Amino acid sequence: MTFSQTTKQEILKTIRHIRGCCATSFLTAVLKSIGSLTLGYKSFGFALESDNHEMLTFCKHLAEVNLGITAEIESSNLNVKGDAMYSCEFVGNIGEKLALVYRDDDGTMQINNNVDELLPKSDCCKRAFIQGLFVASGSVVIPLGTDDLAESETRGKYHLELRIANHQFAKAVQQLFSEWSFHTLERKNRTILYLKESEKIADFLVYMGAMSASLKLENVIIGRSLRNTANRQSNCISANIDKAIQASEKQLNAIATLRQKGLFDSLSDQLKEIALLREEFPEAGLEELANRLGISKSGANHRLNRLIQLSQQD
Ligand SMILES: [Zn+2]
Repeated sequence: MTFSQTTKQEILKTIRHIRGCCATSFLTAVLKSIGSLTLGYKSFGFALESDNHEMLTFCKHLAEVNLGITAEIESSNLNVKGDAMYSCEFVGNIGEKLALVYRDDDGTMQINNNVDELLPKSDCCKRAFIQGLFVASGSVVIPLGTDDLAESETRGKYHLELRIANHQFAKAVQQLFSEWSFHTLERKNRTILYLKESEKIADFLVYMGAMSASLKLENVIIGRSLRNTANRQSNCISANIDKAIQASEKQLNAIATLRQKGLFDSLSDQLKEIALLREEFPEAGLEELANRLGISKSGANHRLNRLIQLSQQD
């Protein structure tokens, strides 16, 4: 199963006991995002089509318990990806009960374009609403690779989105959930509300009740950041080694210059001592040289710098 699928499964499990206002809110979100109108004998009906059988069963259950409306779930054609698809047809005026449609003065059924009427009014329903939207028309992708190859291939791919067919509805949802600062883009006549910041996606999963999914994501975030730190540290160590080698070369050049100029023998014993040691151990670090001489690091550094100074004098 994909990460999206397990996340949806987890959300459905957390909300299996919702009822009343929240159940209505959940159904409204699902029907508004993926529902389609069907023409019945006397009225409009509503049908859902999805590869998520569990979600359809849950919607059927909610409609029966909370609205007294029955539904029938059947297998339908495979989708373009070859996944099994199911349809759920509601028997009864679920559209009117959820205010998705209304009867005008002539008694003709109209689609309710006043999206504000469809939005949840209280916090409990707000959560149920976004859970419905996500389970019906959302997806989430995280980089699951653990080795370095997968790391580079999936770099930065944290993405959670809600695909909404009605632009006006999408805007209203974005506004209602403004605390999440959804980004938007238009794709194939749909408005996509999406998050791409890993920490925000993790928080959003918690908000939707998908705790395990959020923990899994947190582990990926931590794993990646540890690897990044390790990379930075090893870069840092090699940079320090480079610096030490450069310093040593500079000191050796200075000593060679002093010898060429015939100044070596006139150096103080202290400077001669460290110059000879540097020549003997060109790869030694400052600390090692200091230890061999039984002096402090800063003392050793001072003497080596003095050699460089003297070599540069005319
Ligand atoms: Zn509620």
